[in-house]
Amino acid sequence: MKTGFRKYTFVLALFIILALLATQIKWIIYSIRFQDKVFEKSVELALSETMTTLTADKPLCSMVKACVECDTARLKTQLTTAGVWEKIHDAIESELRSYDIDLEYEMYILENKSEELKALQKEFDNGLYYSRCMGGILGHSGYQLVVEFPSRTRFFFAKAGLMFLGSVVLIFLLIVSLYNIFRIYNREIRIAQHTKELLNNVSHEFKTPLSSIALASNMIRKRRYGTNEQKLENYAELIFKENRKLQNLVESLLRLEAVERNAFDYSKEDVAISDVIQEAISTCEMLLDEKQGSILYQPNPDKMYVCVDRLHFINVFVNLLSNAIKYSKNEPQIKIETIKQNDKLRIEVTDNGIGIPLKFQKYIFNKYYRVPTGDVHNTKGFGIGLAYVKQIVEAHNGTISVESETENGTTFIIQLPEIKK
Ligand code: ADP
Repeated sequence: MKTGFRKYTFVLALFIILALLATQIKWIIYSIRFQDKVFEKSVELALSETMTTLTADKPLCSMVKACVECDTARLKTQLTTAGVWEKIHDAIESELRSYDIDLEYEMYILENKSEELKALQKEFDNGLYYSRCMGGILGHSGYQLVVEFPSRTRFFFAKAGLMFLGSVVLIFLLIVSLYNIFRIYNREIRIAQHTKELLNNVSHEFKTPLSSIALASNMIRKRRYGTNEQKLENYAELIFKENRKLQNLVESLLRLEAVERNAFDYSKEDVAISDVIQEAISTCEMLLDEKQGSILYQPNPDKMYVCVDRLHFINVFVNLLSNAIKYSKNEPQIKIETIKQNDKLRIEVTDNGIGIPLKFQKYIFNKYYRVPTGDVHNTKGFGIGLAYVKQIVEAHNGTISVESETENGTTFIIQLPEIKK
């Protein structure tokens, strides 16, 4: 599947999920509003029915009337003493219950002109207060029965909030899963791409030395060198060189699997860093001669020691040096410096090669990564060398970094703990 199409599908899926989320939220709001309306209508009906019931209770009506006419300031106390307050309260409660409303409520009986009622009337619109005229009970419309539901907002918020939160959590989990699926899918695609590139590279890298060996050995077999001993020597040299290349290739392929699992065995020992570097330089001599390059390395007079796996560290420097040779257009000039830094040893490998653009530098230590631009693709490789180098250096408590400028060469800096001798 093309990358553009993949991205498009992902964006579409994300859009659908967000649309789903928006629809969900809309439905939740709609359902809250609907419940709100149902609540309001039920309370109004319950209060009307309460009034009808209370109006039919004549003894209760005359008691309320008497209390109202006696002392309006201490009305609640009087009604409570007379047992009327309780009766009205119970009547409201049973009506509310019949409408399935089971909320805490407060009850007031207030005079129409009272300041208290005026203050409450401002709040009537928010649905916390409901009132009914007591005309039926008192025979005049001077008083209102007011019912307040203080916990109503919290009740609705708790109900809706739970629904809302549940939906958001579910949709969030859906987005996370989708993102993970996309990441896994992308990784699989990348692996498949790497495997394809690797197979191409491997067959290309093997083809050239194999055909050189076939050619040179055929010349020898058919005695095409005649009596010229020099020619014979050249053919043999070619076979030897190409064979060495093949050996190196096989070694890097074998290493590839270990790099993949980060599973190397180390036999660490105290070694002089200069010995390791010298050995790496001599391994790379043939490659260097082919490109007429040179390596400048002056070991410090007093030896510096590190505790490392000797063979792996020779490979580390062989990798850095062969890259320095590979990635240079002209004759490679490489400089190796070792510097003491407190209890650390800093080793710098500098070349005058094609350099690495800044934006790619953070990727070069990743497995299978190869800089995608410039002349790099004329040079074949598996993109595994620097990943191996980093693994080995870090396994020895060291660090590796790069400083480079396009067309202006590259410096790899390794820092390792120094062993005092
Ligand atoms: P390979 O050389 O097999 O491609 P490496 O892991 O050794 O893989 O290197 C990764 C990439 O880093 C290379 O493809 C190359 O683009 C870049 N690179 C490494 N060393 C150098 C260097 N000395 N100069 C320029 N580019 C380099």
